Amino acid sequence: MKKTIIVGAGPAGLSAGYQLSKNRNIVEIFEGDSQVGGISKTVEYKGYYFDLGGHRFFTKMEDVNSLWNEILGQDFRKTPRLSRIYYRNKYFNYPITPANALFGVGMLQTLLIISSYIWIKIFPYKNEDTFEEWVSNRFGKKLYSIFFKTYTEKVWGIPCSTILAEWSAQRIKGLSLVSTIKNAFFKKNRSKIKTLIDQFDYPTYGPGMMYTAMKEKIEELGNKVHVNSRVTAVNVEGDVVKSIEVSRQSGEKSVVHGDDFISSMPLTELVKIINPCSSKEVLDAVNKLSYRSIITVDIIVNQKQLFPDNWIYIHSPEVKLGRIQNFKNWSRHMVPDQEKTSLGLEYFCTENDELWNMSDQELFKLASSEIERIRICKSSDIIDYCIVKVPKAYPVYDLNYKQHMDIIEKHVRKIKNLQLVGRYGLFKYNNMDHSIATGLYAAKNIEAGAYIYDTWSVNTDEEYHEEHAEPLTENKEAVPVP
Ligand SMILES: Cc1cc2nc3c(=O)[nH]c(=O)nc-3n(C[C@H](O)[C@H](O)[C@H](O)COP(=O)(O)OP(=O)(O)OC[C@H]3O[C@@H](n4cnc5c(N)ncnc54)[C@H](O)[C@@H]3O)c2cc1C
Repeated sequence: MKKTIIVGAGPAGLSAGYQLSKNRNIVEIFEGDSQVGGISKTVEYKGYYFDLGGHRFFTKMEDVNSLWNEILGQDFRKTPRLSRIYYRNKYFNYPITPANALFGVGMLQTLLIISSYIWIKIFPYKNEDTFEEWVSNRFGKKLYSIFFKTYTEKVWGIPCSTILAEWSAQRIKGLSLVSTIKNAFFKKNRSKIKTLIDQFDYPTYGPGMMYTAMKEKIEELGNKVHVNSRVTAVNVEGDVVKSIEVSRQSGEKSVVHGDDFISSMPLTELVKIINPCSSKEVLDAVNKLSYRSIITVDIIVNQKQLFPDNWIYIHSPEVKLGRIQNFKNWSRHMVPDQEKTSLGLEYFCTENDELWNMSDQELFKLASSEIERIRICKSSDIIDYCIVKVPKAYPVYDLNYKQHMDIIEKHVRKIKNLQLVGRYGLFKYNNMDHSIATGLYAAKNIEAGAYIYDTWSVNTDEEYHEEHAEPLTENKEAVPVP
């Protein structure tokens, strides 16, 4: 019987493995980390559960939704949502509601927002290549600078004038100041959209619970998920992968043969371990792609309640802090002692920059002073903390990334029995559902013995290359935030 090897046990790799296992195929999954779930894992510290960011389970794809429900059943539950933007000592609704945004900024700013919107309608940017041009043309320069610019630049670490418009187009296609106002007041299916925005699904103990359960189910079905097992080489003969090399934490090394291969490891790393070596042109293209990383400073606060939101976006430029998660408001089971509150303070950075290289003590000092500065809690109320550094959290869509991707995609597509899946596997800004969809499609291709689905096409234009796919309209919000 044929055997499939899967690299990475995040949502994409595990979903592929589960789909194949259910249909009695032989699968082996290799995960470099000690825990499964990838970026969607949950970290436990002294009985507190910390999500790496906050992972909202939200999809319009029925097969992904039923997979999540099949895996967790009663432990996959609806959670009410509240999220706001903190900007210059004020809170604004998120997604933006026009009345709150316009009146919240004051009369003068409101007039400036309206006049700058009229101005851009008369004199729009002719080209819409960059994030700045794309958003300004739809919302006006003033609203762009208040609600889009500061936070987006914190996330990406580069000026909005150098971020490709494609990213915003993917997230907020079809929206503008006028359509946001119309949606708020007149849209027929407003109640449906409102419901989709007002609640989401979440596992009792955070997203890691979903993926740990998926691993267990794969193993119950007779297949193996190896943790602490890093794939260090992919051996290709002609245009076919023959084997992979695996390095275990124990120091043991092995060569594993298979018939079909699925990789969800970062594309930029995969290309470097393909043996024989990829061409100089491909390696150069890979070296030009970059990622943003995040650091979460997870704190335990000796306060029963701090704020009602699941999360707050910190747009204020005076602090480096980007976003705050309040895990108790995602699921009360994330916090073992209801007299306390646990928060995840998210800092966006680049691997090896100044923030990334700070010691845990320095990061805690920075975070505790900033959280006090924006008046969320007193630093003296923080009783414990842990720091989690997440490298390669966001693929960066800079102005030239597509050129580089074309070269890389052409190269890896030549390898016949290797399918790439997931967020970093495809270098795409995918949510869990898109990542899972690529895993399911890769598995279905193997089962069908033919490439009926193209994993590269998922999330390219809000639609999936599947006959009856529906556009992801309800998943977009007026401020494109990760
Ligand atoms: C801050 C943040 C918030 C997010 N919020 C949401 C949200 O609210 N909703 C949502 O749907 N999505 C969200 N996402 C996106 C979601 O995390 C990803 O879409 C999802 O985790 C991607 O799954 P994946 O399997 O493709 O990749 P990953 O989760 O990255 O998994 C890849 C796995 O491969 C392993 N690996 C890498 N190299 C090797 C190797 N050489 N050998 C073996 N294993 C290897 C890694 O350790 C990892 O476990 C968020 C992401 C971030 C960063």
